[in-house]
Amino acid sequence: MRLFFRKNKEQKSAETKRSLAMKRHVADSIITYAKSCHPNEGILILQGQTKKNNIVVDGLVVPPFASHGPYYSGFPTYDLPFDLSYIGTAHSHPGGSNRPSLEDLNNFYGFVSVIICYPYSDQDIGAFDRNGNKVHVEII
Ligand SMILES: [Zn+2]
Repeated sequence: MRLFFRKNKEQKSAETKRSLAMKRHVADSIITYAKSCHPNEGILILQGQTKKNNIVVDGLVVPPFASHGPYYSGFPTYDLPFDLSYIGTAHSHPGGSNRPSLEDLNNFYGFVSVIICYPYSDQDIGAFDRNGNKVHVEII
């Protein structure tokens, strides 16, 4: 008889240890950008470095050819230059939830997805990995 170990549980707890450190000026820029796009969604590219489970975001890029809409924001990733400093995206949810939508998970780009929801303050910033698991956000 074979024993099945609950490996999933261990993997999940390892993933929740992931953290994202965001520079103060980056958080401020995301907040300002989200407010200026409201009531539409806005989207930005995150620049930074990843070290094991620690992600550091220290810059933002406004994507070329971005499209905005109340329920959709996106950009054609094939138009982006190949750049290793692009670690993910940040986008806004004009509604009151910063949970990723199915669409967000299907269009995942990079290592991390940052979502900010209305009313766009520090506490409204959330981050997720490509499996939809929450990543702890710290503004530094
Ligand atoms: Zn979204």
